[in-house]
Amino acid sequence: MARCPDCGGEVKYKAPFMVCLDCGLSFKRGEYDKVKSTIRSEFKDEMGESDEETDRKERRRKRAYHDWLMKKED
Ligand SMILES: [Zn+2]
Repeated sequence: MARCPDCGGEVKYKAPFMVCLDCGLSFKRGEYDKVKSTIRSEFKDEMGESDEETDRKERRRKRAYHDWLMKKED
């Protein structure tokens, strides 16, 4: 089973996306490595903020998308 490149949580396939059940990160199949490096560079871009603040914002954004995705399929 795939693991979230961000938080290491369980990832479920919800066509056409892989969705992390923990933080809500969504990405397409085969983009795993790309997502990993994107996350790394995103953190680099936001170094003006504290790690905690960056983390909180990121998770809120991903969670909103995750909720939208799940609602759409219900
Ligand atoms: Zn995750």
